[in-house]
Amino acid sequence: MSALLSSSSATRRPIRDLPDELISQIAAGEVVERPASVVRELVDNALDAGASQITVRLAAGGVRLIAVEDDGGGIPRDELPLALRRHATSKIASLAELESVGTMGFRGEALASIASIAELSLLSRHGGADSAWQLDARTGELRPAARSQGTTVEVRELFFATPARRKFLKTDATELAHCIEAVRRHALARPDVGFAIWHEGRLVEQWRIADTPAQRLSDVFGEDFIGQSVQVDHGEGALHVRGHAGVPDAARSRGDQQFFYVNGRFVRDKVLLHAVRAAYEDVLHGQRQPVFVLHLQIDPTRVDVNVHPTKIEVRFRDGREVHSAVRHAIENALAAPRAAGAASTDDSGTGRPAPLLRGYDAPAAALAWRQSGIPFAAERGAGDWAAMWPTAPAAPSAAAAPGADQEAAPTLPSGLGGAPLQPPWTAGGAAAGALRLSSTPPEVTAAAASDWPLGRALAQLQGIYILAENTQGLVIVDMHAAHERIVYERLKTQLDGHAIASQPLLIPATFAATPEEVATVETCSEVLGALGLEVSPFSPRTLAVRAVPAPLADGDPVALARSVLAELAQHEATTVIQRAQHELLATMACHGAVRANRRLTLDEMNGLLRQMEATDRSDQCNHGRPTWRQLSVRDLDGLFLRGR
Ligand code: ADP
Ligand code: MG
Repeated sequence: MSALLSSSSATRRPIRDLPDELISQIAAGEVVERPASVVRELVDNALDAGASQITVRLAAGGVRLIAVEDDGGGIPRDELPLALRRHATSKIASLAELESVGTMGFRGEALASIASIAELSLLSRHGGADSAWQLDARTGELRPAARSQGTTVEVRELFFATPARRKFLKTDATELAHCIEAVRRHALARPDVGFAIWHEGRLVEQWRIADTPAQRLSDVFGEDFIGQSVQVDHGEGALHVRGHAGVPDAARSRGDQQFFYVNGRFVRDKVLLHAVRAAYEDVLHGQRQPVFVLHLQIDPTRVDVNVHPTKIEVRFRDGREVHSAVRHAIENALAAPRAAGAASTDDSGTGRPAPLLRGYDAPAAALAWRQSGIPFAAERGAGDWAAMWPTAPAAPSAAAAPGADQEAAPTLPSGLGGAPLQPPWTAGGAAAGALRLSSTPPEVTAAAASDWPLGRALAQLQGIYILAENTQGLVIVDMHAAHERIVYERLKTQLDGHAIASQPLLIPATFAATPEEVATVETCSEVLGALGLEVSPFSPRTLAVRAVPAPLADGDPVALARSVLAELAQHEATTVIQRAQHELLATMACHGAVRANRRLTLDEMNGLLRQMEATDRSDQCNHGRPTWRQLSVRDLDGLFLRGR
């Protein structure tokens, strides 16, 4: 090190311009890390040229050969040498154009850089020209050749002149995988273009021109992808977010299926990633990584694409508007419970179970099914179960179930009062539910049941699971997990309004409290009030719970108060409502949810199923685990080796 320093200071060399070749090699160092980088640049160019079919041919993972062939506009003969010149481009001509660039390329560096570290030849026929021309980058020789309109760029012996670089390359198989990934990124952005990849003379991947983005997605990821994702289509201000977001169940341990595009360009961006994580926070278990393909459309002047040589990073002028649009786009798309869209019929005609996510192609239909604004009555006696059978004529639940005509639905006595019925969602309503079912002719009941996405309850298993039958087969529900989510979502909705409705206790529940608990009650009375909890000192060492959140009216008030106080004590009261809100509500929901080993009647089970169908995010519990599973008749047949 010191020898190096002294020698360089001792023999100072004059400042000189670097030779052109070396400048390109330095630029190539930034842009071309491996064969896949070349593939990306060449496919970028083909797309900029308006190609509709792009063929990539590789040998030895791209190290020996990368040839990219397109049917785009081509390059006129006279411009072929210019294409290889550094900073020569047909894509922008001024700063204004740079600031609103709509092409993949604009730096005019890729071909020059690649030509400085590999053997490159350019074969092109411009639209309207009567022959093609081929340019050899090394010799500069230009000669006529045969080709239909379009361009073929051939790159051989990558890094032949920079062996140090070559040593960094991995096996051919790994480099090939990276090359395929590079094309795949383009393919997801451009369903209107066909792609084919050949390796050593074998076709290794092909995506034909697709009619819809969804078609391309299932071509690239497999047919299951569509059934395992929700469509995203959300506008916010001048921004538009489109694409598909995987359901929480489809999340992976690695974030290897996360594709972001900004105006058609694949990017990696912290703002975007953070927005997605925030949107999934409430429904994803642990460190699972969501799967998504999202396209952000934004006014090009609001995003700077000229911040990274490979253009994989961008800078937004207003990161917050982007964050908000992406987050809302995904949150909205994920909110609708798949339970509401679960297939009630297998209309695919293939005998395969319809995908979990029915209504994907017709989101409006799925939404229509959902019950809007279930009146979550705060007063006892008109509990949730009652809400499942609203008497309002427009109630979609009644409309959705044939036979559930208004006469059959009993008018519920309001304000039954008296002792709370267990479990919570049946408060005052279980009898009414039973009344309704028994007043309906059996065959009508069966017809109605088949229309319920989560089906008709059959039994309870081990005090943990509810078994139900729908047209596809068997539905298994984790009853505590499902109910916890329902209560949680209800608390969130109420708190979003202003405060959670509160239910006074006839007899206050007192408990011996620690000094810290007493202090928390004093400092946090406002927060407690917003949460629907009324706790006050009864004596210096005793606290009294006087009212509880209405949705949790049937839980243990003391246990609830204790855990809320414990959580509040950890946070600063002023910030808790904003920041720790969801954790707090989740804790509360756990207290309000039906416990394992509680015996449920069939009506109660059905009540829970109907609520799941109507509750946002009810496919996952508050910790991101699934709340229900479908076992189709086909799955069951498989278990018993039937029909083989
Ligand atoms: P940039 O894409 O940034 O302009 P490149 O070095 O990648 O720089 O390409 C230089 C120029 O060569 C492009 O501006 C374009 O005019 C032309 N070119 C390169 N590839 C193609 C192609 N496949 N079809 C048509 N023109 C091309
Ligand atoms: Mg380019």
